[in-house]
Amino acid sequence: MIALASQYAALPEHFFARLAPTQVARPRLIQFNRVLAEELALDIQDHSDEQLAAIFSGNLIPAGANPVAMAYAGHQFGGFVPQLGDGRAILLGEVRDNAGQWRDVHLKGSGRTPYSRGGDGRAALGPVLREYIVSEAMHAFGIPTTRSLAAVSTGEAVIREGRLPGAILTRVAKSHVRVGTFQYFAARGDAAAIRQLADFCIGRLYPSLAAGEQPYLALLKAVIAGQAQLIARWMQVGFIHGVMNTDNMAVSAESIDFGPCAFMDSYDPATVFSSIDSRGRYAYANQPHAAAWNLARFAEALLSCIDTVPERAIELVTAPLEQFEALYSYNWLEGMRRKIGLQYPSAEDPALVQGFLEAMQAGSADFTLSFRALCEAAQDDAAEGRTGYANLRALFVEPALLDAWIPAWRARLAAEPLSAPTRAQAMRSVNPLFIPRNHQVERVIRAAVEQEDFAPFARLLQILARPFEEQPGSEAFANPPQPQERVTQTFCGT
Ligand code: AMP
Ligand code: MG
Repeated sequence: MIALASQYAALPEHFFARLAPTQVARPRLIQFNRVLAEELALDIQDHSDEQLAAIFSGNLIPAGANPVAMAYAGHQFGGFVPQLGDGRAILLGEVRDNAGQWRDVHLKGSGRTPYSRGGDGRAALGPVLREYIVSEAMHAFGIPTTRSLAAVSTGEAVIREGRLPGAILTRVAKSHVRVGTFQYFAARGDAAAIRQLADFCIGRLYPSLAAGEQPYLALLKAVIAGQAQLIARWMQVGFIHGVMNTDNMAVSAESIDFGPCAFMDSYDPATVFSSIDSRGRYAYANQPHAAAWNLARFAEALLSCIDTVPERAIELVTAPLEQFEALYSYNWLEGMRRKIGLQYPSAEDPALVQGFLEAMQAGSADFTLSFRALCEAAQDDAAEGRTGYANLRALFVEPALLDAWIPAWRARLAAEPLSAPTRAQAMRSVNPLFIPRNHQVERVIRAAVEQEDFAPFARLLQILARPFEEQPGSEAFANPPQPQERVTQTFCGT
């Protein structure tokens, strides 16, 4: 049986509401992440699927668990909501993983809580599968993210546009504390709670900061640095989160809350998928700005524990906030340089990277496949007209800018010592071949929802677990959508 600690639930009572998940009718295990279960050292080797379904639907509460719904607030599309909270989720408790890190075990779709407002507390199967796929793909890319441990169908219907099958996702995170959790207490003027929450986050996520002179300022700096790195990684795989509200930004700097998120097919910095983001606040290219804005809200919420004199506190947080842009740009450029095959920095790199992006945009080229084809063009380092370059060029509806860019890129590569095959191999390890394409995600969700066929979902997960490797027989999964397959909008599904 799984044993859980209850660290968050040991914080003061006004941090959460204590309640158990609502029982569901007929829990059935759809997917269980055994690799993650091992990493978490969960004692489940002798559990049947029925037992796992009972635990990860909330029907059977593990020993020691002290389930709570966490309180939080948040800015949603710029407007402050002083009380949000886990309206359809429950933190079951924590486990210590093999590396000694505490991780939250959290159920999403587990019934109404005091924070549900008008909602039913439930999740539909489609969004559960989507979050499972995308979070595990992010992990396979090496991007910090919450993980998916289990997906269970409930045997109950949820009412959305119509009746849909219900499901519950078990999500694992280093912590579910969000920028909005701090805002919840700041909005109530509860300085003691802010300090307790900050101490909790330092202890759980950034323990080395506790001994410093200014641990709360250091916490702010650590989150700024972590988010600068995280958002740069998103940009490098064409990921669009879709709802970067402050309640969806984790203090752990893990990607969290995969609602209407999506990966870009053809490159366009203005891309928006989310049906509720009508003004493009969270468009692809706006994500670094949205993150900086959220971090300023985080700093505001922390002011009272940074200095008792407000003016002094504001002065102290200003420089770290201003550093976000430089940190982000540094991380972005580091990753992009590797994506185009460069090993050593040079002053001309930003323009070179930008040139490739502009060529893709002008050529309506697929973001993921263009970088991947660039690996082959780097391997095939002889003159243009060889297959690597021809395959890259074929991705461009209009290749004029690409043709102009290639010689400058080749000249830059020639100035580096790496052999072409070694360089190409290094490039393949940072340029995924497989991403969770929208049309593929929608296809596996349709099969699950309409036919109760989970095999396509399992197959897609398997492919995305090794996104950088060619997988014979799965070539079609790398393809962008055909015009009739294109998905232009995604929905929260809440
Ligand atoms: P999200 O857009 O998923 O980040 O959720 C924003 C807020 O709405 C959070 O407080 C959620 O707990 C709440 N929420 C979303 N869906 C539901 C639902 N079906 N029932 C109750 N609360 C919900
Ligand atoms: Mg959320």
